[in-house]
Amino acid sequence: MAHPSERQSPQTTKEIKRNIRGARPMCDYCHGSETKENPLKRCAGCRSISYCSRACQKQNWPQHKEVCPDLRTKSILTKLATTLLANADFFHFLKLAIAIYLDFDLEDAPSLPLAEPFTVLVPLLIEPEDILDFARLRGDLPNETNPPEKIQGILQVGAVLPIPEGLLSKEAVMSLTNTIRDDDDPLERDSPTGAIVFMMGSLNNRSITEVPIRISSQILAIAKEGQPFMQFIIATRGYRPRPMSLFSCIEYINIAIRQDTQDTFLLRRDMSPMDEMIIRKSATEYDRSDDGSFACGLIKLRMKKEYIYEALLQDDSDKDQ
Ligand SMILES: [Zn+2]
Ligand SMILES: [Zn+2]
Repeated sequence: MAHPSERQSPQTTKEIKRNIRGARPMCDYCHGSETKENPLKRCAGCRSISYCSRACQKQNWPQHKEVCPDLRTKSILTKLATTLLANADFFHFLKLAIAIYLDFDLEDAPSLPLAEPFTVLVPLLIEPEDILDFARLRGDLPNETNPPEKIQGILQVGAVLPIPEGLLSKEAVMSLTNTIRDDDDPLERDSPTGAIVFMMGSLNNRSITEVPIRISSQILAIAKEGQPFMQFIIATRGYRPRPMSLFSCIEYINIAIRQDTQDTFLLRRDMSPMDEMIIRKSATEYDRSDDGSFACGLIKLRMKKEYIYEALLQDDSDKDQ
């Protein structure tokens, strides 16, 4: 059995790119295929649809302009979620987190019969690569100058949560999970299947993308066994033992992304004003009715649970003494 502690080091960029299943290249207006002489050109606005010619783009624009801005946000989210799951190591730990959440963390979650497809909400955030920029945005370092104008951001997994009512219909979940059941492995026929809903932004102004998944019996066994695993920490050049828990599995992914300064995993991008606003606002007592409160609450939750913030708070109190 591949215990997480025995796993190989995370994949190379090349392997991750191979794992990303892109859409079949086809013109989104005339459905003509791509040819070697005539590669498709993407819409510069959303970068999520492609055309074989300027004529097709022009024909489609009156309809497309209505959805182009939303597609842009959605395409960023879809790309990040797809890239995250294309990394076998990250997918492994996300599945473990979900298995632990569904099996043992029953206080906050309804007990789900495994015959029914499950759904979980996995909010994603863009946070500064440099923990000090995180602190500067929040105003936690009063003597420091302002953060730089352009902040390098990294993808971070916020949590695994129950799905808000009405976000995804039962039928939608069913048809998503049917795509798994169709090309079934007979040995895994009884393994729980469901959907991850990735979300960015706030509950009212959000972008979501759904991915069907199966939690294999192997993953369930590792989660139940509950053996600790090791994570390599670059700063100390050593392994840090971690308990098998929901938050340490999420933290495993987040630390690995933070440590990937060369962007081998393709999960970095510049922070948008919206990303920065969420972190700034997390430092203040937010209003529950405020639209940004959901994402700010996630930041606060992560600061309580994850080691990187512990270190930051530690540094802070050292300074005070
Ligand atoms: Zn065309
Ligand atoms: Zn567009």
